[in-house]
Amino acid sequence: MATQNTSERAIVNCLECGAIVAAEAANDGSFVPIGTEDECTCGSSAFRKFR
Ligand SMILES: [Zn+2]
Repeated sequence: MATQNTSERAIVNCLECGAIVAAEAANDGSFVPIGTEDECTCGSSAFRKFR
């Protein structure tokens, strides 16, 4: 079955406001915050891997 979850989880921080959030790696290599909308509370959707 194609139900296996291979998404990498990481701690990332927002490039705009610096907020640190838990995220999941998307197929295109970007990160999507977990438990929120697809973007930071500041409205940015650019994240950098924190660790
Ligand atoms: Zn932000």
